[in-house]
Amino acid sequence: MRFKKGDTVLVICGDDRGKMGKILKVDLKKSRAIVEGVNFIKRHTRPSSRNRKGGIVEKEASVNLSNLMLYCSRCSSPSKASFKIVESSEGVKSKIRICRKCGEIV
Ligand SMILES: [Zn+2]
Repeated sequence: MRFKKGDTVLVICGDDRGKMGKILKVDLKKSRAIVEGVNFIKRHTRPSSRNRKGGIVEKEASVNLSNLMLYCSRCSSPSKASFKIVESSEGVKSKIRICRKCGEIV
């Protein structure tokens, strides 16, 4: 799994190229994610009990995961992630994701 909820990512393709945001939701089956502030779409809504006036609502639409890259705050640049197995003092093994450039956990 390359991306998860809460990751900071950079958009590398499309209209929102260069934008950064946090992943709000990942759909691994469809390889898509909703990223905060990225890929806004305008939706016309009809008046409803929740929204009496109706009108235009702007909402994030999902983007393809292949258009995203993890952002490493230590390198201040997008980074390729790799995985590392670490063992805790109790001997529990877990997989962590690290930046391939600087080794920082991302
Ligand atoms: Zn890094």
